[in-house]
Amino acid sequence: MRFAFVLVNDRIPFRRIGCMQCSEPVSDSYLREIATGLRYCDHQCYALFCEVLAKDRVRAAS
Ligand SMILES: [Zn+2]
Repeated sequence: MRFAFVLVNDRIPFRRIGCMQCSEPVSDSYLREIATGLRYCDHQCYALFCEVLAKDRVRAAS
């Protein structure tokens, strides 16, 4: 028998998922990109991460 979902009471496994940009564990209020589900401390880290991705793309293209 397979369960369609898991009920998680322990929040620690989620807390261990850090910010994509600075790797700091995210707090109760964090920014989550809907499309990717990735977490960031705030919009600043998100913007920085997007910048890095954009630079990587430019580097890969040239
Ligand atoms: Zn961060």
